[in-house]
Amino acid sequence: MPELPEVEVVCRGLEPLLKDKQLNRVRTFRAGLRYPFPDFSILYGAYLEKICRRSKYILMYFLCADHQRRILCWHLGMTGQFHVLDQSIEAGLHEHVRFDFQDGCSLRYRDARRFGYANIFTEDSWLQSKWANVLGPEPLSHDFHVEYLYEACQQRKVAIKVLIMDASMVVGVGNIYASESLFLAGIHPKRLAKNISKKRINQLVISIQEVLHAAIQAGGSSISDFVKVDGKPGYFSHEFKVYGKEGDVCSHCGGIIRRITQSGRSTFYCLQCQR
Ligand SMILES: [Zn+2]
Repeated sequence: MPELPEVEVVCRGLEPLLKDKQLNRVRTFRAGLRYPFPDFSILYGAYLEKICRRSKYILMYFLCADHQRRILCWHLGMTGQFHVLDQSIEAGLHEHVRFDFQDGCSLRYRDARRFGYANIFTEDSWLQSKWANVLGPEPLSHDFHVEYLYEACQQRKVAIKVLIMDASMVVGVGNIYASESLFLAGIHPKRLAKNISKKRINQLVISIQEVLHAAIQAGGSSISDFVKVDGKPGYFSHEFKVYGKEGDVCSHCGGIIRRITQSGRSTFYCLQCQR
């Protein structure tokens, strides 16, 4: 499943290819994916102003023909991919939607498992939507800092890994990056959040940000067939220290990487490095 770095990589890949282009029409090859598609015709003739990310949502800002700004919000689900191709190229396997732009290019959405979903909002209705109004701060923003996370930890009697994966606490720290961040910070994933010192929480904030920045720089992690807009894989999976490495030797201490299950998800950690 694409996590925050992969979605950020997609946004950064798409924006220079589509910014300021006018959308002509949208063709759908099925009625919907996880949910029915919205009526895309409200975007016909609109100009794409910018593409950014909130949590794991891709937000495409359009200035519409009625002078209203609307946001096409897209979640990639498990296997969603966007590609920009010439309109003359036939629809490929698992292609469900195409957006044809005035200049001859088209944005194609492919999704083998079809868990992706989309909707169209105004700026106000997006902020008030049930998708957006439950989200905690962005981990790479100024709203996510030691004071914030330490305070959040005091109020919850849960393991630290469960807490940092709770999107109402902080968005976008998915299963891979939670394991990697806790390893970097030297914190045992099962440690109760409220029992961790402020100094170590500060290290965790830094580690989460370092891991996410490094993953974005590497083009994300290509597991479950994630590819970038240009069709190439991301390379951060080669930099995993613990994720998916059960039984391997820890690169830091020579101990053995272990796997446990927390809230139904696998957690990977080093017993010697993480206390
Ligand atoms: Zn170790």
